[in-house]
Amino acid sequence: MEHGIDLRLNTELKAILPDNQGKCRAVVTSSGETIECGFVGLTAGVRPNIAFLKNTALETNLGILVNEQLETNLPGVYAIGDCAELRNPPAGRKPIEAVWYTGRMMGETVANTICGKPTSYQPGIWFNSAKFLDIEYQVYGEVQARAPEHHSAVYWEHPDGKKSIRIVYNSQDGHVLGFNLMGVRYRHEVCDKWLRDKTPLETVLQNLGLANFDPEFYPQHEEELVAAYNQQTGKNLQLKQKRGLPAVLQFLR
Ligand SMILES: Cc1cc2nc3c(=O)[nH]c(=O)nc-3n(C[C@H](O)[C@H](O)[C@H](O)COP(=O)(O)OP(=O)(O)OC[C@H]3O[C@@H](n4cnc5c(N)ncnc54)[C@H](O)[C@@H]3O)c2cc1C
Repeated sequence: MEHGIDLRLNTELKAILPDNQGKCRAVVTSSGETIECGFVGLTAGVRPNIAFLKNTALETNLGILVNEQLETNLPGVYAIGDCAELRNPPAGRKPIEAVWYTGRMMGETVANTICGKPTSYQPGIWFNSAKFLDIEYQVYGEVQARAPEHHSAVYWEHPDGKKSIRIVYNSQDGHVLGFNLMGVRYRHEVCDKWLRDKTPLETVLQNLGLANFDPEFYPQHEEELVAAYNQQTGKNLQLKQKRGLPAVLQFLR
């Protein structure tokens, strides 16, 4: 328990119990536990708030429907950001992606188009970052909650439970598919290039110093991740000592 939060895993909300005035007094979980409370907050995801556009000439579904150039069914009318729903999302992407980076890229796309350079929306490789209280979080590429059979992962967690690195790779040919970082910062450009180039997991592990974006004097954890990999596989992979901005710039060139 930290920050006043008592996290319960592997259980769900089953019922909200009322008091004799109809206000909530407790919740019951699917594991049968009753937790007393005076307030229940539910986070059920985000949904475009477009009710005011229903019954207009604009075609909508969950969001405002747009084509590859983010144009609606009305010529010259575009929708971007949280309210836009792609009619044909790129492979592996959702029709609505309500995150800041998506909105920004969509804005750039439409700006190009309306300034005379017709441009299709190309979100590239998925990425996002956020902060849960004091723990920073980043994800690049594919890190699925229910991984398909050909997805494997190398995982390291700090003993304090506040830092972890997960690198997902294709177990058939060994190329990296995704990164998930908690409490550790990696460089977006470096991870993006590794993912775009379908880089073998072992090449990534050996060059992890290029990805590290933690400020100077922060503890580095690449060696621990490589050790976890060696333990999982019985191999003896060694970290190459490439790090720092000049090495990163050379790698990205
Ligand atoms: C609590 C929270 C945390 C988040 N954290 C992250 C994060 O860590 N990382 C991340 O990538 N994304 C995050 N997001 C999502 C991110 O904020 C949104 O994806 C992004 O702001 C969407 O931009 P937008 O321009 O599409 O919409 P908005 O930012 O919602 O802008 C829409 C604007 O339109 C205005 N508006 C609405 N209706 C009308 C109307 N009828 N007439 C005129 N104006 C109107 C609104 O007032 C608002 O200013 C978070 C969102 C929330 C709510």
